Amino acid sequence: ILEFAKVALSFGDTAVLKEIDLVLESGKFYTLLGPSGSGKSTILKLISGQLQADAGQIFFEGQVINDVPAERRRVNTVFQNYSLFPNMNVFDNVAFGPRLKKMAEKDIQDKVREMLGLVKLSGFERREISELSGGQQQRVAIARALANDPEVLLLDEPLSALDYKLRKELQQELRNIQKRLGITFVFVTHDQEEALAMSDWIFVMHDGLIQQNGTPEDIYDEPINHFVADFIGETN
Ligand code: ATP
Ligand code: MG
Repeated sequence: ILEFAKVALSFGDTAVLKEIDLVLESGKFYTLLGPSGSGKSTILKLISGQLQADAGQIFFEGQVINDVPAERRRVNTVFQNYSLFPNMNVFDNVAFGPRLKKMAEKDIQDKVREMLGLVKLSGFERREISELSGGQQQRVAIARALANDPEVLLLDEPLSALDYKLRKELQQELRNIQKRLGITFVFVTHDQEEALAMSDWIFVMHDGLIQQNGTPEDIYDEPINHFVADFIGETN
């Protein structure tokens, strides 16, 4: 569904991404794993169209991504800090995308109900965002993104603001949601345990390069170099 061919990007003199190649198939759970500054968020921004590459090409369903209008890309992002609309209630937050698309009000109600069910927040429609815990806010953010019917959901460290127990719970739930919907997830984390627990396929990043990619087992059992071995072996 997505392919990067020798994609590079610099800010000024700093090469943030150097010749990135990656192929993402439809319906899988992918993780970009790497330390701070390795270029993970930059890759998500290239996929969502927030940034443009300096070199190389990105394909979305076989077409150069620049030729695919934003509304046809069907890509949505969930961020670490939730970024909900604070002065709208839960229903209006989740209904935002469907309303933009002028979906019929009855269908919007069904959609919101379905999405809130998926993130285990049924009955929270009328609650204000300020009345929700961090974990609940992140569930709303996930429901809001999914209400746009994305083919690719980008998740930029969505769990890192949550405490350990909640993180574990949401890891499992995200995985279940991805399987249930059968869409492609591109999940970003610097937490190797999280990556190993959740992913079909992991890209380990460092210094603007993909150091290794493979299944969690591949990466855990046979790290390709010292960087990957040390990073995977670290304890949090
Ligand atoms: P983190 O885990 O801290 O979120 P990351 O892997 O997501 O890190 P990126 O946000 O992709 O890292 O950033 C990669 C590098 O690019 C960093 O060194 C960062 O300082 C730099 N960078 C990112 N955005 C910009 C920008 N708009 N202008 C200049 N440099 C930038
Ligand atoms: Mg980042």
